[in-house]
Amino acid sequence: MFEGLKNKISGVIKGFVKKEEKEIEEKEEILEEKQESNEKKEEQDKISNEDKNNTKHNEEQESKKKEENDKKNKEEDNKAGSVGVAIDNKQTKKDFKLNLSLNTKIKKVFLNNIKLNDSDINQLLDNLKMSLLQSDVSYPTADKFIESLDTRLKNTAFNSKNISQQVTEQVRFSLLEILNKNIKNYIDLFALINKKIKERETPVKILFIGPNGTGKTTTIAKIAYNLKQKNISSVLSASDTFRAAAIEQTEYHANKVGVPVIKSRYGADPASVAFDAINYAKAHNISAVLIDSAGRQETNKNLINEMMKIVRVTKPDITIYVGESISGHIIADQINEFSKFIKIDGIILTKLDCDAKGGNAISIAYDTDIPILFIGTGEAYNALINYNPDSIANSIL
Ligand code: GDP
Repeated sequence: MFEGLKNKISGVIKGFVKKEEKEIEEKEEILEEKQESNEKKEEQDKISNEDKNNTKHNEEQESKKKEENDKKNKEEDNKAGSVGVAIDNKQTKKDFKLNLSLNTKIKKVFLNNIKLNDSDINQLLDNLKMSLLQSDVSYPTADKFIESLDTRLKNTAFNSKNISQQVTEQVRFSLLEILNKNIKNYIDLFALINKKIKERETPVKILFIGPNGTGKTTTIAKIAYNLKQKNISSVLSASDTFRAAAIEQTEYHANKVGVPVIKSRYGADPASVAFDAINYAKAHNISAVLIDSAGRQETNKNLINEMMKIVRVTKPDITIYVGESISGHIIADQINEFSKFIKIDGIILTKLDCDAKGGNAISIAYDTDIPILFIGTGEAYNALINYNPDSIANSIL
């Protein structure tokens, strides 16, 4: 899913780190030599100090002894009335032992607080930006990512040990900044439905909008499947009365998943089909109504009016935009256009399994102000995963 980004980013980091590590290794060697020569000098100083101390000590001892002897001799002289005898009191020089610990001798010098070279960082950022753009990351997202990483790399003190891991960590932080941009507005859909069930605010009405062919109907079926797994009842509203075969398709999925579907004829008012589905849910104590809608590849006035009417009539609790990952910036453009008329609460990104590069998903997380709620990873009903920035970052780095 994110192989393109993963390969590109790791390639750029590896190249950068190799260069930095070589420079650091050279610096370390110099430092190591310096430390060795410092240690040698220290030991020599120590020896000569000890020698000095010993000599001084000996001299003091000797003069003390001499004084005592003189005194004694004087006393004896006095006693015996004889001339004093010289006594040899010379001390043997104490042997000095080099006392460097093994640890000190074999210690590898690690440079702490390394500042990476600014021009190297700039080169890294240029290469990374190029890689992001080649992996379908949009310009605004790539710019934001690079700006964040630039500040991080230039203000971080690194340790020469395992520089690759530390640089990757900084890349991860910048990536998470992008992926978490809208996380404060993230809605845990299933938790919200459960809450509304507890508070007897059912049926929960969820409207799905977005262009044709992006996987809207399949995604609605995936949600119904997930709800069923959680023992939450739902009904599908076949409100795409525009596209040929759309009603049959909704019916097909509803039957496969085992949930009811409310439908009408082609050309019927989508809002009235949704209204019927809500009434059906009320009458049958069904917890959630999943409302499909017609989509167009382009955003036109008719489509917007149709959407606004569905919203007016059904008053959805949540409106979700379903877009396929490979559409890239078109999704952000369309969401931003729709958002002028309808409040969109979340995005489901489909077909990420078909997007080898992965840059679109990153951009959609940043280029709109709406949180991604789920990611579609295949055609099967269980191929829907929660949007999780950490696991995306883990699959890229
Ligand atoms: P709609 O026109 O937006 O309702 O799109 P459909 O639900 O009919 O889906 C169009 C095609 O996309 C179908 O063949 C689906 O099986 C397929 N599809 C939907 N979601 C995914 C997904 O996450 N991954 C893959 N590989 N295919 C998907």
